[in-house]
Amino acid sequence: MRSLFDLFLKKSTCAHSHALISSNEGYCPDCGAYLKKYFYIVRCSRCDLKREAKIYFGDVLPKEKFCTNCGSKDYYVEKLDAISFIDIPYAIHTKEVITPEQIDIVSAQIWVDKNGTKPVKYLTGSA
Ligand SMILES: [Zn+2]
Ligand SMILES: [Zn+2]
Repeated sequence: MRSLFDLFLKKSTCAHSHALISSNEGYCPDCGAYLKKYFYIVRCSRCDLKREAKIYFGDVLPKEKFCTNCGSKDYYVEKLDAISFIDIPYAIHTKEVITPEQIDIVSAQIWVDKNGTKPVKYLTGSA
């Protein structure tokens, strides 16, 4: 058994690159943190079109400034724990560390955007 202290020490330096190769959640073989894969999809606020996403300094942003369908530059980010294969070209995925306490409550977890400026819709994906 690894101690919690051990997890906290190592989770910030590990990129978890060998983790979750064939599953959506599990332990990282390099640092022992419990990880869950999340997907982010950027959508146009006006017409709901899926827009190609990129990660920029840890934020999920649309690749293009304006929606190619309606010309709006407003968008929102959906966080999902599962996506269908047609969404894969649009989605960005992250491996996020779940603490032992969170493993039980992860389905009720609400994700709050760091900047608090963008509207964020949280979906569990299991509904
Ligand atoms: Zn790791
Ligand atoms: Zn649009």
